[in-house]
Amino acid sequence: MFNKILIANRGEIALRVIRAAREMGIATVAVHSTADADAMHVRMADESVCIGPPASPQSYLSFPAIISACEITGAEAIHPGYGFLSENAQFVQIVEDHGLTFIGPTAEHIRVMGDKITAKDTMKALGVPCVPGSDGGVATLDEAKALGEDMGYPVIIKATAGGGGRGMKVAQTAADMESAFMTARAEGKAAFGNDEVYIEKYLTTPRHIEIQVFGDGKGRAVHLGERDCSLQRRHQKVFEEAPGPAISAEERAAIGKVCADAVAKINYIGAGTIEFLYENGEFYFIEMNTRLQVEHPVTEAIFGVDLVREQIRVASGLDMTFQQDDLEINGHSIEVRLNAEKLPNFSPSPGRITQYHAPGGLGVRIDSALYDGYRIPPYYDSLIGKLIVHGRDRAEALARLNRALGELIIDGVDTTVPLFHALLAEKDIHTGDYNIHWLEHWLEQQTDW
Ligand code: ADP
Repeated sequence: MFNKILIANRGEIALRVIRAAREMGIATVAVHSTADADAMHVRMADESVCIGPPASPQSYLSFPAIISACEITGAEAIHPGYGFLSENAQFVQIVEDHGLTFIGPTAEHIRVMGDKITAKDTMKALGVPCVPGSDGGVATLDEAKALGEDMGYPVIIKATAGGGGRGMKVAQTAADMESAFMTARAEGKAAFGNDEVYIEKYLTTPRHIEIQVFGDGKGRAVHLGERDCSLQRRHQKVFEEAPGPAISAEERAAIGKVCADAVAKINYIGAGTIEFLYENGEFYFIEMNTRLQVEHPVTEAIFGVDLVREQIRVASGLDMTFQQDDLEINGHSIEVRLNAEKLPNFSPSPGRITQYHAPGGLGVRIDSALYDGYRIPPYYDSLIGKLIVHGRDRAEALARLNRALGELIIDGVDTTVPLFHALLAEKDIHTGDYNIHWLEHWLEQQTDW
């Protein structure tokens, strides 16, 4: 086992990793930009290193700064959290070249899954069901138009290098194809340096269902059920739950086995998420994320496992602490994302926290790096915390969420808390009757906050 690990991240996820490491008796090194000198992850880690100015390319994304921080402190392994360098195959290669361990999958797995066309081909070959669509990349507008006619509209044009909801455009009819095709290509080029796109049938009323998988890198893998992340705004998740209200035990076991077998076959190591759209009882693969997800705590709640601990264990060469038969679902869990954003436009709302009070009590978990007086810097993601509740069933989890939101105080900046209060007043949220478009439609109808 490692003696010391470095966390190449900030905010709540840096804290999350520090917590797991501390329980395992592993020393931690935080890295931070000059804008984060007073951040909670810096206070909580055993040691910290300033790695550069506020702009991420010169700090949290800087390979030399992070590798040097390991060398100075004697950290043996790097946990990337999510975002930043977590799915950067080149970084993983450099970490290994320096004799350090990356706590996550191999560079090769990240590369394969990071390119959506290769990912889809790989998954198809491993027996995972995929959304019908083009056979690989679509190079010309004429080809795209012909495919649209063949498949039938609507279709979605996606950048193969895309992520975070960028590089995706829907063509409702043939008349939209030209602008959708050109825009998806341009976004792919601008954001990811790659203008290759592919086309899929656009599913009109699916749910977003993702399967948590975990591999030991030696050909063994398990699944930890699904998360339903259908409540999205601009393809960004805001409310996640496990188990999924629309998924039966039989469906879970079947798709879970397909996913676990697929990652076992490729000797996948660590945590991964296989994302699907689910419509009319069918699962359609859309992409695999080769990292810990923001919403991992809902899975931890219902299975009673610490996924970060398992990540660190397998990275150090130990076995996972569970096998498939040990994993049983207990109750229901919901996470809401607390963003420093102003409604109704969700515009960033950085600034100083004048008062912060975290809710507590049975079945309530808050993962946040906030504290009284903390100044949220304007340079990074607007996620400032996650509120996770766990109940014996979905109704209890919803009641607990309502209670915990009522106890939460975040003063000084605008947050997405009012969104969740309003959602909890909706019947569809209580019946679980929503798909990936529900939230956008609902938001259009809201007039006052
Ligand atoms: P990203 O990597 O940017 O997150 P994904 O491929 O995971 O992109 O898709 C993100 C979201 O976009 C999905 O959760 C879903 O809401 C929507 N989406 C993607 N593909 C389709 C599709 N074929 N039909 C309908 N919606 C889709």
